[in-house]
Amino acid sequence: MLKWSDENIAVQEAVRRFVDEEIRPVLDDLEHEGVPPYEVLRKMYSTFGMDEMARETFKRQLDRKRSGEEGTQRASSNAAMTLIPIIELCRVSPGLVTSLGVSTGLAAGTIMKLGTPEQMERWGLDLMTLEKVGAWAITEPDSGSDALGGMRTSAVRDGDEYVLNGSKTWITNGPYADTIVLYAKLDDGSDSDPRTRKVLTFVLDTGMEGLTQSKPMRKMGQKSSPTGEVFLADVRVGKDRLLGGSEEPKGGGRQSAKDNFVTERAGVAAMALGVIEECQKLSIDYAKQRHLWGKPISDYQLIQLKLANMEVARLNVQNLVFRHLEAASTGEPTTMAEASAMKLYSARAAVEVANEAIQLFGGNGYVSEYRVEQLARDARVLQIYAGTDEMQIVAIAKDLLNR
Ligand SMILES: Cc1cc2nc3c(=O)[nH]c(=O)nc-3n(C[C@H](O)[C@H](O)[C@H](O)COP(=O)(O)OP(=O)(O)OC[C@H]3O[C@@H](n4cnc5c(N)ncnc54)[C@H](O)[C@@H]3O)c2cc1C
Repeated sequence: MLKWSDENIAVQEAVRRFVDEEIRPVLDDLEHEGVPPYEVLRKMYSTFGMDEMARETFKRQLDRKRSGEEGTQRASSNAAMTLIPIIELCRVSPGLVTSLGVSTGLAAGTIMKLGTPEQMERWGLDLMTLEKVGAWAITEPDSGSDALGGMRTSAVRDGDEYVLNGSKTWITNGPYADTIVLYAKLDDGSDSDPRTRKVLTFVLDTGMEGLTQSKPMRKMGQKSSPTGEVFLADVRVGKDRLLGGSEEPKGGGRQSAKDNFVTERAGVAAMALGVIEECQKLSIDYAKQRHLWGKPISDYQLIQLKLANMEVARLNVQNLVFRHLEAASTGEPTTMAEASAMKLYSARAAVEVANEAIQLFGGNGYVSEYRVEQLARDARVLQIYAGTDEMQIVAIAKDLLNR
């Protein structure tokens, strides 16, 4: 894939119109006043029939699960239609994409992949259509990069139930989630090494006894995406909440968390592209209209260098996104090294471009009115979540060296 198709461009334009009419007017409320992002996202879903598409996808996935075909890798002709709204939303508010991606991608995606047909029906559809808000909770105060090994949240068997204790932090949508997909280590009372114990995946509903969801944290950026803590004090769950209904579901626990790493990392490249495109566009416009020493700053070569570097970054990240779409359209799997390299490069590029945009805007780059400061703050976390830059490097090297 070398460029967007006419159909892709039509979708891009329609999403841009939606962003201008429905999101920009409420951007301050989302970014500075703590208004949760879900209503505007639901409006986008209904405007573009994404809720209807989600219902159809849900039905297909359920049918495949029932027929036992769910594990097969399939080509997706629709991947571009998923990534275009991500790119367009990221031009104005990347936090919206984080909230949307965690709810419909990670939370719903894990349930649809690992869950039994009953669990898919119970939780999957409402999350996929955004009727309900989902969170995906793996990170803990003492284990971020070391999420699986260092996990302390425990699940202890008690008759037909499990008792969950522990806490999770940095949980996107945590404060408002109706449904939480939560990872916990099975503690079977043996003296086995806690690092290697089984990781079980549960689905929790807000309001369950012993479950507390914190208020949103104050963050540097992505303020339109509420992030919080989740505390578990003797939360009792039946087997019906254990994803896959078994302690060893196919592709469950650790594998499910790793599968999500690949999906997330490709998504981050699309997010980075949105940030880069918008920063470059704002920078070109500003460079032409800002006059110093009697001419536009676009005449100065140091400014031109910034614009040229932004173009190099834009082309590279766009090519990575196109490559990912091409692979998705043929059903070719993305390796961990590829997904991690894509994330590492794109996140760094977005942060660099956004910082250079601030520099190009001078003092105006430092105030919110000109928008590049928000994009720079928002881009910064792309180098931290879904695996830090350092962990991407580790993942790339490990994958290459173990072939
Ligand atoms: C806005 C936001 C939203 C998030 N949303 C979610 C969510 O929805 N669900 C969820 O479960 N988590 C979420 N996270 C958590 C996120 O995935 C973690 O913050 C991330 O994995 C890093 O973990 P940490 O913050 O504990 O840093 P640490 O793991 O403590 O890392 C500290 C530093 O050490 C470095 N480091 C660690 N190990 C190594 C190593 N082996 N070699 C070299 N350097 C190393 C890291 O790269 C980093 O620079 C979110 C985080 C943020 C900021």
